[in-house]
Amino acid sequence: MSPLNFDLQPASTANWSKNLYVRLIGFGLVYFLAVIFGVTLVTQPEGISVIWPAVGVALAALLLIPQRDWLAFLAVMFAINLFSNLISDVSLPASIGFALANTLEPALGGWLMRRWLNKRITFARLRDVLSLVAVVVLVDGFTALLWALIPTLAFGAPYIVTWLSWWILDGLSMLIITPFIITWVIGGTVFSRDFLERKFEILIWLIILIGSTWLMFGAKRLNIYVEQNPYMLFPILIWVAFRFSPRASASALVLTSVIALYSATLTTGFFPMGGTSPREKLISIQAFLCVASVTTMVLSTTFTERKQAEIEREKLINELSAKNAELERFTYTVSHDLKSPIVTIRGFLGYLIEDARSGNMARMENDIQRITNATNKMQDLLHDLLELSRIGRIMNAPQTIQFDDLLHDALDIVHGQLEAHHVTVLTQPNLPAVHVDRQRLTEVLQNLLDNAVKYMGDQSDPHIEIGQSGEEDGKPIFFVKDNGIGIAPEYRERIFGLFNKLDARSDGTGIGLALVKRIIEVHGGRIWVESEIGKGSTFYFSLQPN
Ligand code: ADP
Repeated sequence: MSPLNFDLQPASTANWSKNLYVRLIGFGLVYFLAVIFGVTLVTQPEGISVIWPAVGVALAALLLIPQRDWLAFLAVMFAINLFSNLISDVSLPASIGFALANTLEPALGGWLMRRWLNKRITFARLRDVLSLVAVVVLVDGFTALLWALIPTLAFGAPYIVTWLSWWILDGLSMLIITPFIITWVIGGTVFSRDFLERKFEILIWLIILIGSTWLMFGAKRLNIYVEQNPYMLFPILIWVAFRFSPRASASALVLTSVIALYSATLTTGFFPMGGTSPREKLISIQAFLCVASVTTMVLSTTFTERKQAEIEREKLINELSAKNAELERFTYTVSHDLKSPIVTIRGFLGYLIEDARSGNMARMENDIQRITNATNKMQDLLHDLLELSRIGRIMNAPQTIQFDDLLHDALDIVHGQLEAHHVTVLTQPNLPAVHVDRQRLTEVLQNLLDNAVKYMGDQSDPHIEIGQSGEEDGKPIFFVKDNGIGIAPEYRERIFGLFNKLDARSDGTGIGLALVKRIIEVHGGRIWVESEIGKGSTFYFSLQPN
């Protein structure tokens, strides 16, 4: 064997989106724009903010980044807040107070949400939405009691109203903007399947939503008997919650809020309910949007979770039926394959008696040898079957291990065969760590390498390559590639079944790949083969990362 190290993939260049400085600059820019936008949205002459998007942006960022980067992000938030307050002629102590408040509030909320949820927050689950609501009600409500002291002491603002405004402003921003950003960042594709499958419905819904929101908030009061009532928007929001993804719901809420806040405060100054002064009207609109947001997101996530549970159930049922069919085939093949050595034994026992009677020693020895071979075959079959039934039932505790080490173990075992057949093995360096049952995974590699050597054919320059080829669902995909005889397309599924051998004369029980498949599946991965007759086969399998 001549193990040669080579690199199958180009050297990994620094991934820009993973670079902390690039992310900090990107976030700083968005955050700064959010602060500026919030300031320009302060209505004059009342001096009331319409929405404070920066806090929603900040919370979303803190929920998306790893906790080790928090300090850097919080420092950027503090600096931008301080700077923008100072350039707006706010005194230094008040600027420091505002900057502290605007940094600590999302930090506390984000920290609590992460503690409660203990998982990646996606806003596709009801729990995520409920924890956000808890943060808005409890953290925002209580901390605003403290923050409201800053404008009260600095500019003599009325305390209670300032507290209420602060609470509802930040709450609205967190409820509307945070899920919006997170569902879009995590969503992956720009156009989800939802969207592509129901473009026409989305279009109709969008027209109705924009039209109704405009009618409720933007149009002048219509002189008709029935008052325009913004709560009429609920059926339209419920529509999106039930028919589309949480991302579509979050986007609908942003759209509704933009139209409502823009038209009610900057154009018509009209809101059909809640108070008489602009401040009271604004708080009513904000309260309405908070209620709409919580209701829509709760419904959307509940429904999504139900849909997912249903899909999961269907998947399980399909898996179960497939397993059942496999079991039937299994019983059939086991009885069939065990029967053939018994038929052999019976036949040769008959010959043995005849040969014993006639005293033909040479033939008797041959008969005994045939019977021994058949019992050996039965023993091998039963041994392999036992092995197969053990997988999943008897496992060693999984451990985190470098793939290179597993490979090393397996190559040590098949070393003899590789040398005997002059096979060159090429391995990719620095393969990632995996979390697996070491012994079982070594068996997988050993089986694949064994087969690669066994089915090399008359290849004059036999090669095996082992490495990683990308990922699927966050799981690294490994491959074992040979330049042997290859496998015809119609057999690429079947070879993973029990006792499926393409060449009945080859040695082995035909159980190896069934075993490999079971081990990989028990580890939460999948295995498949790509091959070209005469050119070789590549077995791919995915595994849970570290
Ligand atoms: P066996 O004990 O016969 O090797 P396996 O389950 O390991 O049983 O393999 C099933 C069949 O798949 C083999 O009999 C062989 O025909 C085919 N096969 C497996 N690996 C390869 C390979 N690397 N190249 C070509 N054929 C293969």
